[in-house]
Amino acid sequence: MKCSICGNKVEVTFLSKPIGTYVKDHKGKRHLVCNQCQKKFKSKQEMLKHL
Ligand SMILES: [Zn+2]
Repeated sequence: MKCSICGNKVEVTFLSKPIGTYVKDHKGKRHLVCNQCQKKFKSKQEMLKHL
């Protein structure tokens, strides 16, 4: 899986859970965001602006 913001590969845990977070856009579509981008953009609103 890839980060929706930077396009980098997102690692998954042994349970196939991505190490990152999901943000929902106004259409209700989920986007995967990696840890680095989470640190860079503090709020979900900020993340959505950069999708
Ligand atoms: Zn990223």
